[in-house]
Amino acid sequence: MSADLLQKLGLESTNHGACTGTWLETSGKELVSLNPSNGEPIARVKQAEAEDYEKVMQQATAAFETWRMMPAPQRGEIVRQLGDELRANKDALGRLVSLEMGKVLTEGLGEVQEMIDICDFAVGLSRQLYGLSMHSERGQHRMYEQWHPLGVIGIVTAFNFPVAVWAWNVAIAAVCGDTMVWKPSSKTPLTAVAVQNIANRVMERNGLSGIFNLVIGRGAEVGERMLADRRLPLISATGSCRMGRRIATVVGERLARTLLELGGNNAVIVSEHANLDLALRAVLFGAVGTAGQRCTSTRRLLLHKSIAKEFTEKLVRAYGNVVIGDALDENTLMGPLVDDAAVGDMMAALEQVAAQGGEVLHGGGKLDRPGNFVEPTLVKARADMEIVQEETFAPILYIIEYDDLDEALKMHNDVPQGLSSSIFTQNLIEAETFLSHRGSDCGIANVNVGTSGAEIGGAFGGEKETGGGRESGSDSWKIYMRRQTNTINWGAEMPLAQGVKFDV
Ligand code: NAD
Repeated sequence: MSADLLQKLGLESTNHGACTGTWLETSGKELVSLNPSNGEPIARVKQAEAEDYEKVMQQATAAFETWRMMPAPQRGEIVRQLGDELRANKDALGRLVSLEMGKVLTEGLGEVQEMIDICDFAVGLSRQLYGLSMHSERGQHRMYEQWHPLGVIGIVTAFNFPVAVWAWNVAIAAVCGDTMVWKPSSKTPLTAVAVQNIANRVMERNGLSGIFNLVIGRGAEVGERMLADRRLPLISATGSCRMGRRIATVVGERLARTLLELGGNNAVIVSEHANLDLALRAVLFGAVGTAGQRCTSTRRLLLHKSIAKEFTEKLVRAYGNVVIGDALDENTLMGPLVDDAAVGDMMAALEQVAAQGGEVLHGGGKLDRPGNFVEPTLVKARADMEIVQEETFAPILYIIEYDDLDEALKMHNDVPQGLSSSIFTQNLIEAETFLSHRGSDCGIANVNVGTSGAEIGGAFGGEKETGGGRESGSDSWKIYMRRQTNTINWGAEMPLAQGVKFDV
């Protein structure tokens, strides 16, 4: 099955790791992509080295000169074709995402749907890159602002959304007139090669190249080069807070822009006024879906004391029914973790749970079978436990009880991260309090909707150590462009602003 899939997506058993439209003959150290569901190798990629990076950057820089001059709606037409190519390859690419990253098939397919959706959004946007016009204080003067393409954008992505985050960035940046250089996670290089092949087909049909570019290489070799490269006015990076700190420091030093999408530590509050059945379904998907490997995964569950026992019992029962298995098996609800190291991190976190007085109510173990399988885990915890402050990228859910909404909100906001949040309640005042200035401090706040599974139409991202970036819908496009304010004098006088006189 996997050989057919690779062939369909233009993958070889050994692939090259740099592309500007045509593949470069990279000769860096080989990266072996392993199937997390059984530990077997899928295929290999020869990584890019410094000179490959340089060739890619030169192509991307040259392509920007022509791409920026193409009218935005025409660039939108290219992105429309990209969306169609993704539609035609949705099944194969979705399967490859599941095969390489380990998310279950419905989520692998959903991730490709997200790529298609953002292409559709970007096509419309290509006719709506609006600037404001304003009234000048000077007579016969016109003032307005316009948005210009920014340049070559550096895109660094995490393993857990190996293709969607590329699309969030490139679909928007492409209609904005930018060209891009993408460094994907070394844990998911094959999905990146497949996506590049899809983009290449579209570009070839249109006689274009150098717009969508790829470099697969080590963080120290390729990643660090991107951060320091003055030809990249924006680095859009998705990953851990640790990685974000490094990027903010190096890119900040050269006073360029960053768009940071970092870790989350997302909580759901279930109040005494909640519809518990709704809450149960949302918490289960939020905490167990993608084996807890979403930035928006539910990691903390704050339960009102009056419903805590009943809700916890329901949750323990539901956890017992989660089918764990191969990501491509249609009956599977929870696939594997991405690699051995992720299993090790989860086990280390559970040791800290025990040392800090937490109680495992369900799960807590690894499965004795090939692949990186663990049990979804429920822990009775306290908000002041140190481990609860951290994002462990695994299916561990900390259950914490509260007495009143003020206490719940305090606990909710008392973590370093600020990505996604939700409250389950049928009480209007509780819901509005949660959404008010003194409510959730996160970039995403939902009522009767879980923390996980955002739509592309909204701006996506979080506050505090999540990095403050916004990607995808709404007006997120603005970071991919440079704003220019223009004043035109169509009169015969030369008045100065603020009435300043300066005549000789
Ligand atoms: P990671 O931080 O290990 O790696 C992310 C990417 O950064 C990879 O491509 C990696 O090679 C690159 N990288 C690491 N150091 C670098 C450096 N010095 N220079 C340039 N690039 C460097 O993260 P991961 O394990 O792949 O992904 C999981 C993390 O990503 C979690 O913390 C998760 O919450 C976060 N995430 C956040 C969002 C969001 O939108 N907020 C979305 C998905 C994932």
